[in-house]
Parts: sequence; structure tokens; C-alpha cells
Amino acid sequence: MDLSARDARLTLDDKTGLLKRLGLAGFHLPLLEGNAGLFDLALPLPDELPHRLRVTDRHQALDVSSIGPEWQLTYLSLSSPRGIHEVSCVLRLRPESDGSFAIRLQIVNHTPHVIPQVLFPNLSGLRATGPAKQEALHLGRAIKFPFASMQQPDGAASFYDLYRRSYFTYGMHEWPMKWFNFGNEHRGLSVFSKDLGAAVQGLYVEREKKARSLTIAWAHYPHIQTGETWISPEFLIQPHRGDWRAGAESYKAYAAPKLPTAKPTRYIRDSLGARSLYFSTYLYDNEPNFRYRDLPIVARDAREHGLKELVCWFLFDGYFELPMKLNPKLGTEAELKQAITECRQIGVNPVAFVSCRSIKTRTAPAAWFETDEHGNRRTQAWSYSLDFIPPFNPPYCNRDESAFVCPAQADYRKAFLAACADLQKLGFSSICFDQLFADRLCYASQHGHKPQDLLMPMYEMAKQALRDGQTIDPDATFSGEFFNDVSQTFQHYNWDWITGTNSLDELEPFRFVFPHFRLGILVDRGRRWLLEAFVRGLFINFLPDGGEGLIATDPDFSALARQLAEARQTYARFFEEGDYLGTRHSTGDPEIGGLYRHGEEWLLIVANVSERDIQLPSRSVVPIAMVTPAAMLPPFEFRIFHWRAGQEQWITV
Ligand SMILES: [Zn+2]
Repeated sequence: MDLSARDARLTLDDKTGLLKRLGLAGFHLPLLEGNAGLFDLALPLPDELPHRLRVTDRHQALDVSSIGPEWQLTYLSLSSPRGIHEVSCVLRLRPESDGSFAIRLQIVNHTPHVIPQVLFPNLSGLRATGPAKQEALHLGRAIKFPFASMQQPDGAASFYDLYRRSYFTYGMHEWPMKWFNFGNEHRGLSVFSKDLGAAVQGLYVEREKKARSLTIAWAHYPHIQTGETWISPEFLIQPHRGDWRAGAESYKAYAAPKLPTAKPTRYIRDSLGARSLYFSTYLYDNEPNFRYRDLPIVARDAREHGLKELVCWFLFDGYFELPMKLNPKLGTEAELKQAITECRQIGVNPVAFVSCRSIKTRTAPAAWFETDEHGNRRTQAWSYSLDFIPPFNPPYCNRDESAFVCPAQADYRKAFLAACADLQKLGFSSICFDQLFADRLCYASQHGHKPQDLLMPMYEMAKQALRDGQTIDPDATFSGEFFNDVSQTFQHYNWDWITGTNSLDELEPFRFVFPHFRLGILVDRGRRWLLEAFVRGLFINFLPDGGEGLIATDPDFSALARQLAEARQTYARFFEEGDYLGTRHSTGDPEIGGLYRHGEEWLLIVANVSERDIQLPSRSVVPIAMVTPAAMLPPFEFRIFHWRAGQEQWITV
């Protein structure tokens, strides 16, 4: 059975429905050549927990029919080496006019067991169509090269076979949007889900042991009960002739209007980002870096560098606790209130950084915790100080061990919002939420939710905290650790650990799809990262001297921050309303350039991130067929080339 969508071709086996081939008309190599079903189910049996059901050569689809452009394949049951299992599945496929294939799966479970996991689509047999080591998997905030990196070390024990299997959880570090692309600069395959929810889901990637072939499978956790019917979200599979951007355009066209980015508040609009400060480094030290009464000094320093949002870490006596108690080492409640009032007079919004996604088990009711299928909690420990040996979780200090609470648990949500109300009484309107994620399933039956539904209740709680904060100040913000396509609709920015350790190119797909989301990067003292973050249009989270210092104490860094703040304000419309067309930079290059468009205006920012003078040649900028003038650029300086249609005139700043 062959389906065509423009020049994309999809071939299924006529009898079994196995996916045989995905390709592009006129191109000799397939994007996928395989012999596996488009879905794969977990059906744990009491005596065989990893038991699975998948379509094989033996399974004939009972009925293959077409209604208009849609094909429908029906399987009445599925078999495994353990026998025949009464699980009926209907697979629907439809070619779309944009060159993609829309697919959907319906499952009815007639077995006495639960189906906790469904892999769909399950794309097995993905091939490289260029040099294999350069074939890339783009995930939104990560780029992987599976044929280069996913292999068992030579001669290693067979357990290291795990190296050729990876799993990415939606909303965690690497995979923040329900999209991926696999391919090279000339062609590839993109896949996205039309689901606008935030159920726990993941992406499983497995490299074949011997062949240069990959499986990429989308993992859902619907927990289909006996007698229950589950219908998957619709997926679009698009073979294309282009780089990852060609594969991201359809997702952008679908998701961006449905998931509009949170509007900036007056404290973050036209600004480079935010300032973060650490009152007391890592809680344990005797001598704090700042006291509550010092807040206005930090606020003034931030304001002088164009920053109007100040995230306060380590305000409290203990973390991973509710309610949150102020730290007497840092001053009194009255001093903090006064300091917050003064910050507001300076025009700076103080934000309380809170950490209560995970709570010390001895301080909270047992019913609050996230539990696995056997009732176990999931714990973590964060005892950290550079004076400990070792600095992280020394054996003699496990003070901050805590366990994840379930955001769907009503009493926990109430306690969190009550703690926010206490912060509001001090004058805080805004919250920065540590660990704004849910990557595990919760099976606590008394919580009254499906095991995979944790993020939406957490987002509802976050939105309520934001609404409550808006009664203090209509420009209240909500920010937090990690972000995804759904959270960026209310999350004003992320506070997480993005720095320059990985290439910032990895962030490009998310930037491309949601260019107005204030995707944050931490900048301590490096002028190089300050410049690169600016060129890329990232939200800069200033953490001078590890959050313990003032920006102004380093004159060169301070001067550059001031220049950038001014430029960011002048050209705010490009960053806040325009399109981001991407950044060009290769490792080792002295210069980095980012291109933006706003209506008929274009902005090209070029920065010298090296320590020597460079001569920028005159260059043509491809999308608008224009030529930039040559320029000399000293170390850590930047130029802005601004072009308006019709005037053919560059203004160089
Ligand atoms: Zn729960």
C-alpha cells in the first residue's frame, strides 16, 4: 500500500500494515526502510513485566479500507510468544496537502491487564541519507548525532549495550516541545504531535546493534484499563527536503497560534533579562553574602544595567519546606518588607525563589507524595557548599533530603498557595519555582488523577499563584526551572542551568518556533557569553560572581552590559514582536551573528567574541539580498546593522 503526499511516499505492507518505507520522490535513498509496526504496546503480565505486544509478519490486519483519502487498518487482536491477547487496534493514515502524513491510533483493551505504555508512532529503520555521523536528531533544546554517539564501547561488557538506547522525557532538559527532526542539511523527517496537553511522555531512541539504522518511538503512558478505549493524539510525519527548519515550520504553524507566549511584564519588556542574587551561598555558611536590608543596593546595581527583575535565592531558613520561614541570619521581617518597598521605588520587581516541588518527608503529610506503583517515594538530596568535602552531599550531611510531592494532590496545592500568600504579605508579587517539571508517573490512588497527569495540575497551581500575585502588582511574573511548549504560555521566563557548556545552537529549534519566549541563560562574568546571549536574543540571567556580587564591580563587563541594555531597548520590537531567523556561529569562529525581522525591517547583530581585532568583510545577507558594509571590530564589541525596505539604507550602530 503506497500513500503519496506531494513528493513524500509512505509504503505499508498490504497484508500486515508493517511500515516498509518512507522516502522522497526522485531521491534514491529511503529516509526509512524497515519492517516494524507503527505501534508497540507494553502489556505487563504478572510473571513477565517487560512483556510487549507488537505487530509482526504473522499479524494480518483484519480489514484494510479507505474512506476518502484516509486509510484504516484494523487488528482485532495481537499475539506475542505468550499467546493471543484481546487488544484491538485501529490505525488511521491520511496524506495531507503539505506533504505530510497524519496518523492516529485507537486501542481497545479487552484483556484483564492494564496497558501502561504505548509507543506511537514507532518509526523503525530510519537511515542516514548523508554522511552517517552528521545525521542529527534535533529535539528543541538538544542536538544528538546518534550514529556517532550511540554505540557500545569496543569490547565492552554487553551491559554497555545500553549506550545505544536513549530516552528523553518531555519538558525536561533536552526535549521541550512535542516535535523532533531527524536528518541532515538537505533532507530529513520531522514528526510532531497535535496534543496541546502536558501528560508525561517521552521519546525512545535505539540504534541497531550492527546496522546504521535507528528506531525513534514516541512513548505515551495512557494506562488503558480493561474495557477502556484510548485514542492517540494525531501525529504528523513529514519527509522534507531541507534542514531542521524545514521540519519545524509545520509545527510552528500549528502550535505557535494555539500556544501563545506569555506577554512580557513591564519589568522584563525592553530589557536584557533579570538579576539573580544568592543571599547566603547554599544555606549553610555562617556569613551571608547579603542581608535583607542590602536588597536595594543590588536593585540599584541591576537598574543601572537596565534590569528591573531581581530573583532572590536563599531567602529562607530552610528549603524543601512548607510553610517557608525567613532566615534570622539575614534580618527581620520588618527589614525585608522595607527593602522590598525600596526596590519597588527604584522600579525593580523582587521575586521570591521557592523550592517546594520536593519536600522534606519529615515535615509534610505522607499523603502529599508522588508514589510509584508500589507506593515508594522518589527522594533527592541537595546538601551543597564549596566548603564541604566533597562539596555535594558529603556523607555526614544529608540535611536536605526530600521527596517529590504530587502537584495533583489538593492539600499540597493549598499549602503552596498559602505560602505564596505569606510572601505576598511581605510585598512579593512574583514567584520563581524550582523544579517546574514532572517526569515520573504517580500512582497514589487517593490523589484522584491518572498516573501521567501531573504537569497540568502543577501549571494550574502556578497560574493561580500568578493571579494572586497580580493583586499585589499587575506586572507580577511566574518563572521556573525548565520550560516547554505549554508552560511558555504563562511562564514569563525560565531559570535553569543553561550556560555556555553546550553549544547554544541546541536552543535554536525552540527559539525558532517560539521566538518571543524569554529563554534564559546564566551569565556570571563572561563578556563572551553576555555577547553571545544578546546576539541570540536570549533572556540573560545575571549571576555576577556566582550571584554573590554586583554587576558594576567589573568595569569592562559592566560597560558592555550597559551598551547592550541600550541596544536591546532601542531594537526591542525585533526581539519581542519580530521573527528570529537564527544565529550563525561555528566553534572557534571569532564572530557570531544573529538575524531578526520585524515587518519590513531587518536587524543583523554581529559580535566579536574573541580577544583580537577582526575585520568583518562586506557580506550579502541571503534572505533579503542585501550587502552589509565592511567593518572593523575590536574584541568583545558588536555592530548592529539595521535595514529598512525601500530605503536600502544600513544604519550601523
Ligand atoms: Zn499523584
